[in-house]
Amino acid sequence: MDKITREQIELLIALQEKEAAALKIEVVLDGLPAKIAALEAGLKEFEDAITREKETLAELKKAYRSCDAEIQTNQARVKKREEQLRAVKTNKEYQVILKEVEEIKKISSRIEDETIACLEKIDAAENAVTEKQAAYLAEETEVKQQKVIFMTEADQQRQALNELLVQRDSLCEKIDDKIMRLYQNIKANARGIAVVQVKNCICMGCHMNIPPQMYNELHRENELRTCPHCHRMLYVVQ
Ligand SMILES: [Zn+2]
Repeated sequence: MDKITREQIELLIALQEKEAAALKIEVVLDGLPAKIAALEAGLKEFEDAITREKETLAELKKAYRSCDAEIQTNQARVKKREEQLRAVKTNKEYQVILKEVEEIKKISSRIEDETIACLEKIDAAENAVTEKQAAYLAEETEVKQQKVIFMTEADQQRQALNELLVQRDSLCEKIDDKIMRLYQNIKANARGIAVVQVKNCICMGCHMNIPPQMYNELHRENELRTCPHCHRMLYVVQ
């Protein structure tokens, strides 16, 4: 049975606390790139939505220009027919041209309705783009601020981590090599927790009972005892 002093046990407990705190910070820091990427992805999605909105607007404007051009063409055709009307010789010819003029005007009227509907849609799309752009700018500012907050927090965390690592190294120096190796081995096999308290004969690592004799021996604090179930180093608080 290895001998261990109360001081060494306390050093191990402190070491374990520092290591657990450092690990917690490392997990937070490791998650930071994903948090920033999520913020940026949200912004990119917003940007894409605006691009799609602008594309819709451009399509509508194109449709409007096409309608407008058609109206102009039809107006020219009507004008031409009306000139022809003045020169016709027969009533039949007159009726034919007049019918053509009516047809063209009918088509023009339909296109004009389409143009009005198109203008309304352009108006709505322009408003949507303007609104979205304003919201985007607000979102962009928010994301920038959030990133600054994340970075500042990360700097503080890194500083705290460095302090913990310095404290850990200083504790390691005071721990016997043999005990340190044992601690590292148990830690590697016991999900990071190598030293656990025993309360009322129960190991706080695995929550199993330890033999009463071992419990009594632990109170003598001179021998290193490990849990028969989870194999962690045990200690009692006197
Ligand atoms: Zn145990």
